[in-house]
Amino acid sequence: MVATLSPPLESAREQLKAVFGFDEFRGRQAEVVERVLDGRSTLAVMPTGAGKSLTYQLPATMLHGTCVVISPLIALMHDQLRSARANGIRAATLTSADADRRETQAAFRAGELDLLYVAPERASQPAFLDFLTAAPLALFAVDEAHCVSEWGHDFRPDYRLLRGLMDAFPDVPRLALTATADQQTRADVMAQLGIPGDGLVLAGFDRPNIRYAIRHRDNPVRQLAVLMAEQPGPGIVYAPTRRKVEDLAEKLAAATGRPVLPYHAGLDPEVRAANQSAFVASEDMVIVATVAFGMGIDKPDVRFVAHVGVPKSIEGYYQETGRAGRDGDPARATMFWGAGDFATARQRLAEVDEARRGAEIARLNALAGLVETAECRRAVLLRHFGEDPPAECGNCDNCLEKPGVTDVTELARKLLSAVYRTGQSFGMGHLQKVLTGSGDERVRQRGHDRLSVFGIVEGEDARLLQPLARALQARGDLVATEHGGLALGGSARAILKGDAKVEIVLPPKRERRGRGGGGASNPVGDPLFDALRELRRELAIEGQVPPYVIFHDATLREMAAARPATLAQLAQLPGVGAKKLEAYGEPFLRAIARH
Ligand code: ADP
Ligand code: ZN
Repeated sequence: MVATLSPPLESAREQLKAVFGFDEFRGRQAEVVERVLDGRSTLAVMPTGAGKSLTYQLPATMLHGTCVVISPLIALMHDQLRSARANGIRAATLTSADADRRETQAAFRAGELDLLYVAPERASQPAFLDFLTAAPLALFAVDEAHCVSEWGHDFRPDYRLLRGLMDAFPDVPRLALTATADQQTRADVMAQLGIPGDGLVLAGFDRPNIRYAIRHRDNPVRQLAVLMAEQPGPGIVYAPTRRKVEDLAEKLAAATGRPVLPYHAGLDPEVRAANQSAFVASEDMVIVATVAFGMGIDKPDVRFVAHVGVPKSIEGYYQETGRAGRDGDPARATMFWGAGDFATARQRLAEVDEARRGAEIARLNALAGLVETAECRRAVLLRHFGEDPPAECGNCDNCLEKPGVTDVTELARKLLSAVYRTGQSFGMGHLQKVLTGSGDERVRQRGHDRLSVFGIVEGEDARLLQPLARALQARGDLVATEHGGLALGGSARAILKGDAKVEIVLPPKRERRGRGGGGASNPVGDPLFDALRELRRELAIEGQVPPYVIFHDATLREMAAARPATLAQLAQLPGVGAKKLEAYGEPFLRAIARH
């Protein structure tokens, strides 16, 4: 490997070790860094957790002049600032929330800044352009670059004005970064920001350390409590409504004894901010939130993301689950879905205007396909994003335990015809009674015991009615009526006529527990490791930073295993750069010597 590195990359690698303490570039970081050092403008599309920030932070420490970083959120900037400074990088933010703006401006003029973070609103003002002429620039880095495109899901008009600023400095290369950009958005971002056609570095979407699992929801509190017992680290639970967020947070706290806090737009802003910072700083907290939570949070040690209910789209699902395991350690993404989630979503389609409805239906069908597949979940996800993944990943529920696939076409015809003959207005409870021939009062009152479908399902088949109904609802072949009944939809008629086959996926009966993998990879009951974490906690409180800013778990694990006795030995470990060695080396060596 080493021999193939170009000279500037060779020194970048030395700098990678010296500043960040990392031995190797990850994924396609090296390519991006090489282009930047070479002065070539680039669009880097890399999944969350791939390490995008390093691709400009590292060159910023090597190039002459300041790297100007345009970033859309103050919280995100301050997060980055903290991490950059912890590695000894000379960084500052210039936002309305900063009291030290004068000092920052002076430092820039004196050429003493590697990184200067600003929001697009400020960056696009003429005064800022004037200000930038006062000192040499090394690079423009545009974070969340999809915001420049109307095709992207997060268009921000201020991003459009960045081009004027950058064009005023034609010799300064541009680096645009994003985790989400389909082909159309990518092309638009490059055109809008003036990045040449050969400037695209597109990393794979795969997040191999995330274990995907999708389960039917029968008792969310119990199911989440099991997940939490397997995952002692921080986690995010996404719930669809404010009320569900509050309710789940309370019940999970009671059921598990873990710290659990709610987060949604209806909370008092101060409470919301406090809950968010408590989560960011915590090593074991679970936050129950609406999808309002997550944007701008760079917490690398989130060990699981759970969805209670189906997400809005596969794109949304991927973005939300992508918040797990940014540090590269094993992490879980588990969805607990119910047939009602799809029923509600499909009901809402009626309100969507005609022009958009087709796309919305396709979105839901793609989700239903993911939920219902017996194939590798990762393969389905990656194919959705246009990749060509291997058929099995070995790290999702379906790969770990093959679910059964059953042909239930006959049963589906019985169920659908019962729906039809009872007038398309009854719920599953009633339909089950009719089909299994239970002599219920209501069934008799309605005369449903005289229908030809009465009592035509027996034995094993009766057990399959519920999963079948779920599958048909997910696919839209059964739709919910206003009053909670079921009606025919989608391909129901084709199934009834015998023109379509129905297969359902049956999850393994009981989920095996304690399969390890996907769980925390931290040693359990290692006194040295525990002591190192304790020390990290104390230093974090003292320095008012989250523990992960000091060292990641992976670094502490290496310390506990290698037991370095000198600063030089400690410096060899991954994640220990020069600045951290100086700031924290001694106390950690002392702790190791004591154990
Ligand atoms: P992104 O912005 O792409 O979501 P980040 O820049 O936040 O990702 O990086 C995610 C995590 O990966 C960070 O905690 C960072 O320290 C770590 N990281 C980045 N590059 C490397 C590398 N080459 N080796 C090890 N860890 C890395
Ligand atoms: Zn798989």
